[in-house]
Amino acid sequence: MASGRCRHGRAEGNAPSADVLAAVRRLLEEGARRVSRAQRFCMGTADCCRFRLTGETPHVTLGEAWLAWKAWRASGRTRVELPDDGSCPFLSGEGRCMIYEGRPLACRTHFCVSAGGALPRRDVIDLIHGLEDMDAALGGDGACRLPEAVERLSRKSAGRGRK
Ligand code: SF4
Repeated sequence: MASGRCRHGRAEGNAPSADVLAAVRRLLEEGARRVSRAQRFCMGTADCCRFRLTGETPHVTLGEAWLAWKAWRASGRTRVELPDDGSCPFLSGEGRCMIYEGRPLACRTHFCVSAGGALPRRDVIDLIHGLEDMDAALGGDGACRLPEAVERLSRKSAGRGRK
């Protein structure tokens, strides 16, 4: 989970092709496989989804932001509202991830202590680089905060009739 302002900017206006999104998804799924092999098991506390609690917010590349947005749309929702309490906008009132299939790499690999801890960066660095390469190919400018990145996509999609 890196820090920094989101700078995806105008690149957000162009929806990635299905092939690009599939390639992003493959990297995320590989992350989940490595987590499983490393015996990290989510305990379902959802503490890591309450960013004020942890002081950390997942950051996403542009391809990941698009996947999260598509998952949000697939769940029948449109606008992304940023909660006042600093929680992830995709966390349900019951403590469940509402974009589970489209959650980013950070959510798949950055496990809390009770779940065994985060995977060492060296174990996923090739996946991070792969996502960064796709970010650059899409015209992004590095990873930025998940909530704001997807909220911006939701606003832009509303403005052009939703893709
Ligand atoms: S995307 Fe899902 S797993 Fe990730 S912080 Fe939000 S609710 Fe939690």
